[in-house]
Amino acid sequence: MSAVQTLRQITVQNYLITSDSSGAEVVKRREADKDGLPPGRIRLTSPYDLDARYGGKEDLRWTGYKLHISEVCQPPRPEDEALRQSRRARPPVPNMITHVATTDATVPDVKLVEPVHQALAARGLLPGEHCLDSGYASIELIVGARAAFGITLVTPLLTGTSRQYRENAGYQREAFAIDWDARRATCPQGATSRFWSPARQKGRDVIVVRFDQADCVPCPVRAVCTNATRWGRQITLRPRPLHELIHANHTAQEDEKWRAKYALRAGVEGTIRQAMAVTGTRRARYRGLGKTHLEHVYSAVALNLIRLDAWWNGQPLDHTRTSHLARLNLTLAA
Ligand code: SF4
Repeated sequence: MSAVQTLRQITVQNYLITSDSSGAEVVKRREADKDGLPPGRIRLTSPYDLDARYGGKEDLRWTGYKLHISEVCQPPRPEDEALRQSRRARPPVPNMITHVATTDATVPDVKLVEPVHQALAARGLLPGEHCLDSGYASIELIVGARAAFGITLVTPLLTGTSRQYRENAGYQREAFAIDWDARRATCPQGATSRFWSPARQKGRDVIVVRFDQADCVPCPVRAVCTNATRWGRQITLRPRPLHELIHANHTAQEDEKWRAKYALRAGVEGTIRQAMAVTGTRRARYRGLGKTHLEHVYSAVALNLIRLDAWWNGQPLDHTRTSHLARLNLTLAA
């Protein structure tokens, strides 16, 4: 970004061209609450680092970048525990970091999945299964990763964002019986839908299903089922193949084996903690996305060398930490 573009951007973020009561054009200070702000992805947060952006995740807020780490995560082998116990035996091969990606803080995690797979493919490091937290998941990515790279994504798809899911009240989408051939849904009270309309929403194919107001108005559970006033209850479905995959994913999340496999992903949280504690990745040492990424690559190389050094020298892995609460639970269960 040139100096002129930077000055223009800072001016736009802070001032607004408007008109006064006489209709004359005036420049006034931008009030964020009233006048809004440019989107976060282009909003400068510092004149010293033009790539840094404001980021947020739940209650956490920060300025700068996001670091995405991929590492090998293997299920523990039966002999691993014996190796951990033995000081003489060589400990199991450590899980190595295979990729790091850096983005500005506004880029959603879900945008990184495909670039990470492309980068891993270029180095011949593609996994057969890839465990990802729900921030990286979408049904399109699950289908796309399998088609393009032959990778199975092990990730929990979120159930939904509608009021019924948020408040965990009323009938959620799964409570409706879908007859795909007849293009009709039946609600738990036995009413059948009146409209079935394929549509595009936020760039995705969906099917909007609506019930008739004549069915919903006299329904005894209407208050918890819908707030709609012009229509009866509305549900939004994905096309049948995607709908069935989503359903299969939600069913799999109840399975112990799936949960055990997905639990392997938690190891990367320890790696992120190690990256912050050992190599100080919480704070960028340099300005700009390119140099910050280089810092993250050096950090990953350092962590891999630390792990290899420990392995080469026969240093056993730490025991998995068990929290006080978990220990108390185990004591009570005994
Ligand atoms: S409000 Fe309508 S969709 Fe909901 S349960 Fe009653 S009849 Fe069915």
